[in-house]
Amino acid sequence: DRSTSEWQALDAAHYIHPFTDHAALSKKGTRVITRAEGVYLYESGGRRILDGMSGLWCVNLGYGRRELADAAYQQLQELPYYNSFFQVAHPPAIELARLLSEVTPPQFKHVFFTGSGSEANDTVVRTVRHYWNVLGQPERTVIISRHNAYHGSTMAGASLGGMKPMHEQGGLPIPGIVHIRQPYWFGEGGELSPEEFGRVAARALEEKILQIGPEKVAAFIGEPIQGAGGVIIPPSTYWPEIQRIVDKYGILLVADEVICGFGRTGRWFGSEYFGIRPDLMPIAKGLSSGYLPIGGVMVGDRVAEVMTVKAGEFNHGFTYSGHPVACAVACAAIKILRDERIVDRVNDDVGPYLQRRWAELASHPLVGEARIVGLIGALELVKDKAKRLNFPDPGDVGVICRDLCIANGLVMRAVRDTMIIAPPLVITHAQIDELVEKARAALDQTQQELHR
Ligand code: PLP
Repeated sequence: DRSTSEWQALDAAHYIHPFTDHAALSKKGTRVITRAEGVYLYESGGRRILDGMSGLWCVNLGYGRRELADAAYQQLQELPYYNSFFQVAHPPAIELARLLSEVTPPQFKHVFFTGSGSEANDTVVRTVRHYWNVLGQPERTVIISRHNAYHGSTMAGASLGGMKPMHEQGGLPIPGIVHIRQPYWFGEGGELSPEEFGRVAARALEEKILQIGPEKVAAFIGEPIQGAGGVIIPPSTYWPEIQRIVDKYGILLVADEVICGFGRTGRWFGSEYFGIRPDLMPIAKGLSSGYLPIGGVMVGDRVAEVMTVKAGEFNHGFTYSGHPVACAVACAAIKILRDERIVDRVNDDVGPYLQRRWAELASHPLVGEARIVGLIGALELVKDKAKRLNFPDPGDVGVICRDLCIANGLVMRAVRDTMIIAPPLVITHAQIDELVEKARAALDQTQQELHR
């Protein structure tokens, strides 16, 4: 076993990390996580940290579930790999497809498997264009997304996303992808009530459709709650208005459920929480609870009928589409969620408990808004509470607070000056108390730091 400083030296010498400022990293040194159990991570050296982010919003069942390790081990011995190209398949992928049709909304009976959420969103772009082609409307190519959305890191995923720094570095978006405003009431709602603002933000979709020409628009994509953008929970009026608009113009509705899916909101899918009827749902993360890489696109009846009956070959797929070991683990993860009634527990027990405790943080002088749905929440750190005024250099205070959280033994993520959480769904009341108290301590210390 190597020491922490040996790991850090090797890391600095050889490892290019995703989404990491390496200059900052070399100053602080990489934190090395060596093992995890339940909701706790253990650093090299043994320090214990409560994982308030479920890794990257994925370890919904917590760490160390023996059933998932056993499912992987058994499948590795039985059939470690085979593909599903060219009219062949294997039991784990077929079984997972069946289970998914049971736990998703009724319009979903079909799934296309991928290796990640980004690949799922690339698959969305290809599927949407394939669909309109087969229906004899090849000019319908434009997909409308939103500023500050996150849909992955591949060329199409990052194009669908609305992250400016990603677009600027990558020469993106690719053609045929455009963006409208996000339903971010706290930051952009001005004098409007959340309900009024929700309708205004949704009507930006209709304005964009009319500007482009409805006959050219293929689909609208959105995360039910924008995760990486800062846990942006839309006002209650937003999604019903979006649904009305996509219905009016006959365009496909894509709900990116990569974060919201598999219980995060207290429903199986975020679409159910907001009462919308998507035609396509990219999924990943919680699908296997993050234990192995797997994603997919749930394909609703309207699109599935075209793809499986009217169309010929869909020229698309990945070597690891429906990887048998990942599928076996995902089957086991879904069965745990279902059989232990974990989604209901988020809805009627731990969700309401965290929501009550989270709301207490709203009175902290640094917090402009404490918002939460199910077990996904955010704190807006502000300079002036009454005016909803952010700090002049967004991000600086968030980084201070994030580092203080870590020092207190809690992982929270900072998106600019928004602190966000998405803890494992199996978190207990006592662990929620620990999370909230550590967050409060970090807020107090951040406040002191700012007044020094
Ligand atoms: N879609 C959403 C909403 C996400 O949050 C993410 C990842 O955070 C992705 C897609 C991309 O998934 P992956 O990182 O598995 O490619």
